[in-house]
Amino acid sequence: MEQTLIIFKPDAVQRGIIGEILTRFEKAGFKVVGLKMTEPDYDHYHEHYEGIGTLKTRKGEEIFESTLASMQDGPVVAMVIEGVEAVEAVRKMVGDTEPKSALPGTIRGDYAHVTYGQASSVGRGVANIVHASADSVEAEKEIKHWFKVEELYDYKVVHQQYTQPKK
Ligand code: ADP
Repeated sequence: MEQTLIIFKPDAVQRGIIGEILTRFEKAGFKVVGLKMTEPDYDHYHEHYEGIGTLKTRKGEEIFESTLASMQDGPVVAMVIEGVEAVEAVRKMVGDTEPKSALPGTIRGDYAHVTYGQASSVGRGVANIVHASADSVEAEKEIKHWFKVEELYDYKVVHQQYTQPKK
């Protein structure tokens, strides 16, 4: 089984839609193995978005700094979920980075509509509800960065009966 990191960004927390979105992942059969509210500082986000995510290298200083500032608008909820090919499946559920381009049915497409242009005109990172690890290498690094080993739990969910050998 594969694990991936989801972060409910400050816009999701402040809009009170954490539960609704979390339910989508549960309904899709993912197992929640770690969950906490936290308010990380600049350095934590720097490591998350550049050390691991290479956002400054990929998109430049301005987008990087405005994204870090927007992430520090308030507390976030960090979550690790587990399932078959979880990283790829979750990215599909989350949708395109820019809500305007995210398809209806995806989380970013259903819960937001803002654009890169509008975000940059007000010096904000585009408010797009959740973060989800981009690939399995990033997922491993991100989970270590956000969670201690003892904050992740092992238990059985009913979905596992469908992914284990048939008796
Ligand atoms: P994703 O979050 O889909 O993996 P990136 O890693 O490229 O995408 O970007 C990280 C975050 O930075 C985005 O989720 C978004 O909040 C912000 N961001 C990325 N590109 C832009 C942009 N052009 N304008 C404003 N914010 C952006």
